[in-house]
Amino acid sequence: MTDNRRIYLSPPHLGEREKGYVAEAFDTNWIAPLGPHVDEFERELAELTGARGAVALSSGTAAIHLALKLAGVGRGDRVFVSTLTFVASVNPVLYEGAEPVFIDSDFETWNMSVQALERALIEAEREGRLPKAAVVVNLYGQSADLDPIMALFRRYGVTVVEDAAESLGATYKGKASGTIGDYGIYSFNGNKIITTSGGGMLVGHDTGKLAKARFLATQARDPALHYEHSELGFNYRMSNVLAGIGRGQLQVLGERIAARRAVFERYEAALAHIPGISFMPEAAYGRSTRWLTTLTVNPQITGVTAVELVKALAADNIEARPVWKPMHLQPLLRQYEYYAHEPQFSVSDQLFAQGLCLPSGSSLSEADQQRVIDCVLRRLGEARMTVPGYAAQA
Ligand SMILES: *Cc1c(COP(=O)(O)O)cnc(C)c1O
Repeated sequence: MTDNRRIYLSPPHLGEREKGYVAEAFDTNWIAPLGPHVDEFERELAELTGARGAVALSSGTAAIHLALKLAGVGRGDRVFVSTLTFVASVNPVLYEGAEPVFIDSDFETWNMSVQALERALIEAEREGRLPKAAVVVNLYGQSADLDPIMALFRRYGVTVVEDAAESLGATYKGKASGTIGDYGIYSFNGNKIITTSGGGMLVGHDTGKLAKARFLATQARDPALHYEHSELGFNYRMSNVLAGIGRGQLQVLGERIAARRAVFERYEAALAHIPGISFMPEAAYGRSTRWLTTLTVNPQITGVTAVELVKALAADNIEARPVWKPMHLQPLLRQYEYYAHEPQFSVSDQLFAQGLCLPSGSSLSEADQQRVIDCVLRRLGEARMTVPGYAAQA
């Protein structure tokens, strides 16, 4: 009862092999960017996901940026982006001087709403303002419903970047999440399901385009003895040391997913029966990694808001968060267009108002998870007394 150590939302969880790979990088003096671990990490990730090729980069954000460059996105172009996401999905659109258009979620998947997307595309075609590309996010470890989404984008000739930063290891109809769009990106930031402390990967089906990404990511150096440049490049490659960490992490990805799913199942068993609590659904088309356990809390039924629960958990030294604040509500992005699920009803607004992410690390012990559950139950119990007629509904 006196144990009050901090419980984090999604801390790094290192395995047995990472140190060996890092030591190998030191011993062979492959400390500089690039090197054998980078090549192997790319090959191993491509093999695991079934992608034709992979390019290891300094971050998931860099991977999105390069994918948009490969799609030919430039100044004034429109790019459709899932609104319910982390800001990194949209920042690269702004780097290129392009204009994001935000698309709502649906309640079944929490991911891009097919009906909102269809309305947006029909209107864009009518106005002669079709997007050049799209960033479709696979949220909290679950793939978007990509068959209908890809069919719509194909019909209008739009290049699709699948933002699988949160969904490495998830599946969609038997395929690896991140390999269904024209390009896919993964993140190895410290809070993701596996980490290199910081890093990303770009995957795709067109090896020529991926070679171009490698070129752009190494300052766009033309083949010559001296330093020759005819295009604008970036310093976006992953270092050989960090790729060593990534190789070790990749070997435990399956275990990490199993652990996160077990965390989800324990929360569900403890809380799902409570009126007003709903867990993020797992769509029948695939398998989620349950990167983060997320749920909604209806304050009209429970008498408590998600934010009040976050605060109660914080008071017990437990890190929880509201779900991502939708991009169309961000001060930075408010001026851009937004297509809600129904013309008069925004699903992501409601998910933001009621959504809660609970500590979900693959290293979370059952005892620590019980601390989280006890705190949530205690706060809900306090609230229950104040809900008129609660006893009658329960
Ligand atoms: C983490 C994340 C990114 C960015 O990845 P970085 O490696 O941190 O740059 C992009 N999109 C989503 C949805 C993410 O969660």
